[in-house]
Amino acid sequence: MSDIRSGRLHRDLIEAAFGDMTPPLGLNEARVAAERCLFCHDAPCVKACPTSIDIPLFIRQIAAHNPIGAARTILDANIMGAMCARVCPTENLCEGVCVREVSEGKAIEIGRLQRHATDAAFAAGRQFYKAGPPTGRRVAVIGAGPAGLACAHKLATLGHAVTIFEARQKAGGLNEFGIAAYKATNGIAQEEVDYILAVGAITIEQGKRLGRDVTVSGLKREFDAVFLGMGLGGVNALGLGAEPEGVLDAVDYIAELRQAPDKAALPVGRRVVVIGGGMTAIDIATQVKKLGAEEVTIAYRRGKEQMSASAHEQDVAQTHGVTIRHWMRPVGFVSQGGKLAAVTLEYVRAEGGTIKGTGETVTVPCDQLFKAIGQIFTPADLASEEAPITMKAGRIDVDPERRTSWPGVWAGGDCITGGQDLTVSAVEDGKQAALSIDRMLTGAMRQAAE
Ligand code: SF4
Repeated sequence: MSDIRSGRLHRDLIEAAFGDMTPPLGLNEARVAAERCLFCHDAPCVKACPTSIDIPLFIRQIAAHNPIGAARTILDANIMGAMCARVCPTENLCEGVCVREVSEGKAIEIGRLQRHATDAAFAAGRQFYKAGPPTGRRVAVIGAGPAGLACAHKLATLGHAVTIFEARQKAGGLNEFGIAAYKATNGIAQEEVDYILAVGAITIEQGKRLGRDVTVSGLKREFDAVFLGMGLGGVNALGLGAEPEGVLDAVDYIAELRQAPDKAALPVGRRVVVIGGGMTAIDIATQVKKLGAEEVTIAYRRGKEQMSASAHEQDVAQTHGVTIRHWMRPVGFVSQGGKLAAVTLEYVRAEGGTIKGTGETVTVPCDQLFKAIGQIFTPADLASEEAPITMKAGRIDVDPERRTSWPGVWAGGDCITGGQDLTVSAVEDGKQAALSIDRMLTGAMRQAAE
């Protein structure tokens, strides 16, 4: 029988459960952690960072009692360094290749040190950036997520005026709507957006969606360049036909949870199943457990090693009491009176690179099921354009400078081919696109002056 209701736990318990999961380093802790760094020449951690932060330099600055200088080093390379310090899968990136990890099995705590530095700069109100001398050039950016904001910020510092068109009523994208609440406590995502916008020369037009309120064709006529950073608008379907009440999209619920003034009011099941193996699956499973669900099971159609959620994230979920079952896929719902009562899962195996059902099934009682099986690009966003933009693997194809096939149009973040659902990669896309746009605009200005 369906048993979805709010208030499973007292709101004080819920608030405590959603507090900072990894507490910030104290001053002395940070110095001790920094002094373990070998300040490697040709440091592998820098190569593993998508934004190429000079990690040994900022750690040396922390060790030298200069966390504000460290923050400048970080933010010069990655303007969203504060959120990335909290949400980057560092064990798969910088910390995973740290020489201390390889030699001793204990990496330098790069993420926590990065947070220490950026927190210090924010707490001190240190703004390092301002808009550059105006060039008279204007750039349109679609989407106020990490890619769009990073692109806008870099362009503004180079003197170009930027207008961001954002469908939602709040900026931040993935960081504001797609990240588990316990990873972004105390309004840090909004604080970071405010820091970025404080540079000036950036205007946000909210409630403006590509394909509905604006088109690339129209923006190209009005602006000198266009950057597309709208993310992914669609969610993959399970393909099991009509879904009973209680089957939900994980991304929608995570967004609702992040914005909820009272988390205790959110409806949560007694027994919950999550379908998927990525960060979204881990985030939703851990959060519904924190909200008071009694049993939470993640069902993933491949093995532990193939899960795109990092081993650390899997550990986090399991530590919170989430059960992860591998090599299983959903094949049907059981409902009572239109409400979800159970899901039937089939055991599968890999055969020649594809997944094959074994015919053996198990029925797992549940009153809430979350689909966390990936998001997809929404081609309708670009359907009315005057020129086609080349797509590859279902997303926008770009060159290394993040130029699309349509001259004057750049793209980055999750909407491009190879977009990784990572804030840090989106920031790098936005930064590289901005530098490319600047090269084009300043080249055009030079030509006009000759
Ligand atoms: Fe320091 Fe590790 Fe990077 Fe070497 S690899 S510079 S020890 S953080």
